[in-house]
Amino acid sequence: MPARILDGTRIASEIRTEVSAEVRGMALAGVRPGLAVVLVGHNPASEIYVRGKVRACEEVGIYSEQHTPSETATTSQLLELIQDLNRRNEIDGVLVQLPLPAQVDSKQVLMAVDPAKDVDGFHPVNVGFLSTQRPGLVPCTPAGVIEILMRSQIPIAGQEAVVVGRSDIVGKPAAMLLLNSNATVTVCHSRTRDLPEVCRRGDILVAAIGRAGMITRDFVKPGATVIDVGMNKVTDPAEFQRLFGGSTRNAKREETFRTKGSTLVGDVHPEVAEIAGALTPVPGGVGPLTIAMLMYNTVKAAKMRRGSRIPELSRV
Ligand code: NAP
Repeated sequence: MPARILDGTRIASEIRTEVSAEVRGMALAGVRPGLAVVLVGHNPASEIYVRGKVRACEEVGIYSEQHTPSETATTSQLLELIQDLNRRNEIDGVLVQLPLPAQVDSKQVLMAVDPAKDVDGFHPVNVGFLSTQRPGLVPCTPAGVIEILMRSQIPIAGQEAVVVGRSDIVGKPAAMLLLNSNATVTVCHSRTRDLPEVCRRGDILVAAIGRAGMITRDFVKPGATVIDVGMNKVTDPAEFQRLFGGSTRNAKREETFRTKGSTLVGDVHPEVAEIAGALTPVPGGVGPLTIAMLMYNTVKAAKMRRGSRIPELSRV
């Protein structure tokens, strides 16, 4: 039986509706959550992401502003901007869009964001809160992974969860969230021995690698839930054929590939749908959750800074 497809677009829209209701409630108390996005230089992909974030703010009623220092901005100029945003009471969230230009000390800039406004959840203070299960701001993409599982009624407690990838942004916080939800967690990386065998232990398998279709059917325990965080642009026709030839032929994909010359694929090979119990698609799986959780984090930051009740999602 083919895998149940976990619809991230629907779940993200559900969360945005909930966040929007919270924002309306806060407006009655005279509070409007505010997000400041810092976009340095002209990275086309970053510009697209930031546009999406600003549009999402408008949709849920969050105030937003963009700061666009030039490509030649220095670390100290950015630190000054961050300090200013940290001081302003109407700004609840400060998001620095990565990557920053090479001359900038990215770690120093991220460390300068007030942990109470760190809606990306990257500050070591928030990393510490997450690992000690205290209330804080949790990185958006991993928080989205948990929302997908919980809202799809997929049990986590007591399950074997395998996370492939150990980045600070996705792999490690995803593993920590699964552990906090009482899964037995294994974290894999490029030096893991017998990766397919370790992955096959997973009742839940999270792929956050950055390699198109690397997780093939031999990595997956039959019936497992597979969460595909990867976002990879495939342009090579031979690679396209490896992914969408044979039993995974997909007319819609072929059409996109022919007209655009590329297609967005995850880290999970499409053939996994034939063996998994449930699977997030790419696009339309984890991706839409990232912005929805950013909206949630901005409202959460606004409430935490004012000492009010934090809106409950699925206990992220
Ligand atoms: P990253 O920082 O490059 O980390 C990749 C991880 O995968 C590393 O831990 C690396 O191991 C591991 N890895 C690489 N090749 C491997 C192999 N052959 N076998 C086993 N492990 C391997 O990437 P990231 O930022 O975590 O992102 C991962 C993917 O998620 C990317 O495709 C990215 O575009 C996507 N992403 C999506 C969203 C979203 O909103 N959906 C958000 C963020 C990221 P080592 O540590 O040993 O090098």
